[in-house]
Amino acid sequence: MKYKLVTEPYNYFNISDKSLIFYNTLDGEKVVSSDLDIVEYFSHLKANNFIVKDEEPEFALDFIGELINKFMISRVEFSSKTPVTFFENNHDLIINDLKKLKQKLTIDSLKYLKKINLYLTSDCDHDCTYCHKAYKQFDCCTKAKKGNIDFNQFKSIINQIYKNTEVTLFGGDISKHKDLVKLVNYLYDNKYYNTHISLKWDTISENTKFIQKLQSVIHISVLADSNQIQTINKHKELFWHPNITLNFVIENKDDYDLIQDNLDPTILEQVDYQLLFNENPGFFKENVYTDEDDLFEQTQSVKEIRTKRLLNSNFFGRLSIFPDGSVHLNNNDNQVSTLSDKTLKQVIEEELITQKSWFKTRQTVEPCNKCLYHDLCPTVSTYELFSGINNMCHYDLDLNSWHNN
Ligand code: SF4
Ligand code: SF4
Repeated sequence: MKYKLVTEPYNYFNISDKSLIFYNTLDGEKVVSSDLDIVEYFSHLKANNFIVKDEEPEFALDFIGELINKFMISRVEFSSKTPVTFFENNHDLIINDLKKLKQKLTIDSLKYLKKINLYLTSDCDHDCTYCHKAYKQFDCCTKAKKGNIDFNQFKSIINQIYKNTEVTLFGGDISKHKDLVKLVNYLYDNKYYNTHISLKWDTISENTKFIQKLQSVIHISVLADSNQIQTINKHKELFWHPNITLNFVIENKDDYDLIQDNLDPTILEQVDYQLLFNENPGFFKENVYTDEDDLFEQTQSVKEIRTKRLLNSNFFGRLSIFPDGSVHLNNNDNQVSTLSDKTLKQVIEEELITQKSWFKTRQTVEPCNKCLYHDLCPTVSTYELFSGINNMCHYDLDLNSWHNN
C-alpha cells in the first residue's frame, strides 16, 4: 500500500543541501536533522508539500515517528486518484501550478476538483417558496434550471473526474429521474464511493430499500412545518439509518424551536439545520457571522492567513452542473460553460487563470478590502454572495440597523 507524508498546514519546513528543519508554529517545537539520508528522503517535500512512498525505509522510521508525534506531519493512505485536499498544505503547490499555467505548461488541474454537485432533474411536484433562493446559499435541491441529465451525459461527467471527488446528486426530486437507479449503480460499479444523495422527505419510503443498500450519505430536505414534522414522527423508523441526515431549512428562532420541541427525540440527533437568508439579517448576525471580537478568539497560523489571502476555501474546488447542462463554479455566479462546450478540465484551468470565483477573497470585495482585518476574517461565503452584504459585522442587533464603523 502506498502512503503519503503530508506536512501539517501550521508546520514550517525548510531544507538545504546538508540539513533540514521542521518547526511547529503552534507550540514552537522544532526537529532538525543533518543526516544526509534523511535530507535526501525529504528532498521532494519542498516542492510538493507531501511525499509518496511504498514503504518507509528503516533509517527514517524514528525520524518520521518523531515528526508524527510532534504533530508536524501525518501519514495518510495514498491513491493516485486521490484529489488534493486543500487543507493538506497545498498552498505552494497551487502557486506553482498557477505559474505553470501562465507559462502554458500542462498541469493536472482535475486534482483540485474536490466536490461536484450534479442536479439530475428539475422535475418536482413541490412548490417551496425558497426554491430559487436556497440553492444559492447552501447545498439544496432546486428547479431553477429546467431539464434532465441523461445517462450518457452522466457517464461523460463521471468519467472525467477522480474517484475520490465528492459527488452529490440533487433534483428537483431525483426520485422522478427515470434512470436514477442506473446512474447510482454506475457510480458504485465504477468505485465512485464518495457520494451523497439528496431526497425529499416524502419519497424516503419508496426509496428506502434502494438507499439502504448504499454507502452514500443521504440528505433528506424537510421544511420547519408542523405537518411535515408529525408525518416524520409517525414514520420515524424509516429515518433510523446512520447515513441519513435530515436537513431542516430554517429562517428564524421560531423555526428552530418548532423542530426542537416537536420532532421525535430519537431522530433529533440526525438533524442538520440549513439557515435561509431571507431579509433576516439579525438572525444571521447572531448565528452565522463573525464579528470583530470573534476574530481573535483563536490563534491563526501563518499558513491559514496566507491561504485566505490566496483563495476562497469555501468555494475552491467546487463545481455545479444543472439539468440544462450549464456548468457553474458557484451557484451565485453565471454559468462558465455548458457540458457540450468545454471539458471540466478546461473549465477548471480557465478559473485557475482568470480567478473569478474560487479566488474571491476579502481583499477582492467591498468594503472588506479596506478593512484592517481582511486577512483574519473568515472567507466570503455563499450567504454574502447571495445577500450582497459582505460586512455583516456592521449590523447593530440592538438598533436593528446598519452602522458604518
Ligand atoms: S423540493 Fe426542492 S426542487 Fe422541489 S420545489 Fe422544493 S426546493 Fe424546489
Ligand atoms: S468589514 Fe469585512 S473583513 Fe472587516 S471584519 Fe467585517 S466582514 Fe470582516
